[in-house]
Amino acid sequence: MVGHVVVIGAGVYGAAVAAGLASRGALVTVVEAGAPAGGTSSATFSWTNSCGKQPRSYHDLSVAGMLAHRRLAARVPHGDWYHEGGNLEWAATADGVDRLRRKVATVLEYGYAARWLTRAEVLALEPDLDPTALPADEVAYFPREGWVEPTRLVGHLLATALSRGARLLRDDAVVDLDIDRTAAVRLTSGKRLTADAVVNCAGPHATRIAALAGLDLPMRNTLGVLIYTSPVPVTVSRVVHAPDVHLRPDGGGRLLLHTSEVDAAATVSRGRTQVDQGAVDAVLSAGRDLYPGLRDATVESVRVGERPIPADGLPVLGRVADLPAFHFAVSHSGATLSVHAGDLVAAEVLGENHDDTLGPFRYERFLPALSAS
Ligand SMILES: Cc1cc2nc3c(=O)[nH]c(=O)nc-3n(C[C@H](O)[C@H](O)[C@H](O)COP(=O)(O)OP(=O)(O)OC[C@H]3O[C@@H](n4cnc5c(N)ncnc54)[C@H](O)[C@@H]3O)c2cc1C
Repeated sequence: MVGHVVVIGAGVYGAAVAAGLASRGALVTVVEAGAPAGGTSSATFSWTNSCGKQPRSYHDLSVAGMLAHRRLAARVPHGDWYHEGGNLEWAATADGVDRLRRKVATVLEYGYAARWLTRAEVLALEPDLDPTALPADEVAYFPREGWVEPTRLVGHLLATALSRGARLLRDDAVVDLDIDRTAAVRLTSGKRLTADAVVNCAGPHATRIAALAGLDLPMRNTLGVLIYTSPVPVTVSRVVHAPDVHLRPDGGGRLLLHTSEVDAAATVSRGRTQVDQGAVDAVLSAGRDLYPGLRDATVESVRVGERPIPADGLPVLGRVADLPAFHFAVSHSGATLSVHAGDLVAAEVLGENHDDTLGPFRYERFLPALSAS
């Protein structure tokens, strides 16, 4: 019988796990090294999707994640952190068009909502787009995708947990763990907590927490650069993946811009992260080519987030077979997955069996590779 659970980290995963646990009656302590939603969950594109995710089990988990967002937002008055406006995507090269066709064919086979739009149909959805920036047809549209405001989502989930008796210890990090059938957790402040279970929701720092429990969690985290504009009087109502820039609204008239290439502009030297200004300007310029109304937009802020990516790219979720008091809730795409996956992990901590869903995402898949190396 699990009574007290320590959740390590208060990003989207920690908040979702804490809400799931507290809603089922568990006594929960969330320990956060800094501020809630102060990690990757505050520097993310947070596009909710399962667009091209493989294998099928990961696709299905992501679709369930999208559905969980829709349900949660519908249930909560003022749950307007969730924006299901769809996603537009097109390509500029023959290879790119081929890849997009294959992606659309695969997701349609999976029963995922996708269709092709003409330029005129796209302009009916996004009237401020420059028509000359669009192909005449073959713009892929994924109507059930969208984006979330992760900080507000974390706020809601934590408030849910706290209203059901959970406790939040912030600005205090977990520095030591002693795990067997139960757990002892030591914090920077010197506080010592005892618990029946611990859930590792430390995002990009999950490897460190796993190591405290004697586990080797291989991760290949990457940095991502996000560019936030000043408020602009331009209508952008959905996620847009154009060949030279990805963007979405970010509230208050601001837009969030990203490209895969701009990520390389972030460098870390002596613990300081810097971003090359020329690369940032190039992304804004690509945004202006797409939406001429962005002419007067300026860059209001640039954030660098660290993607928590387990070594094989797939989530690590649920119990550890040899360490029943230790659980994982770690993944990339956490903005999409966390509400659903966090709830599954919480349920499992409290004894519900979710082997079918969580089976492909267990920590143990790393063990043969680790012991062979
Ligand atoms: C550039 C970028 C773009 C992205 N785009 C998308 C996207 O479009 N769609 C999508 O679904 N996902 C996207 N992601 C991924 C998604 O944002 C992450 O998967 C998600 O935010 C991870 O949440 P988390 O709660 O696991 O981690 P975090 O938000 O980092 O939370 C972990 C928390 O643990 C705390 N912590 C760490 N160590 C300790 C310790 N020792 N003791 C106590 N607390 C500790 C940290 O302070 C932190 O607050 C993107 C990420 C990036 C960086």
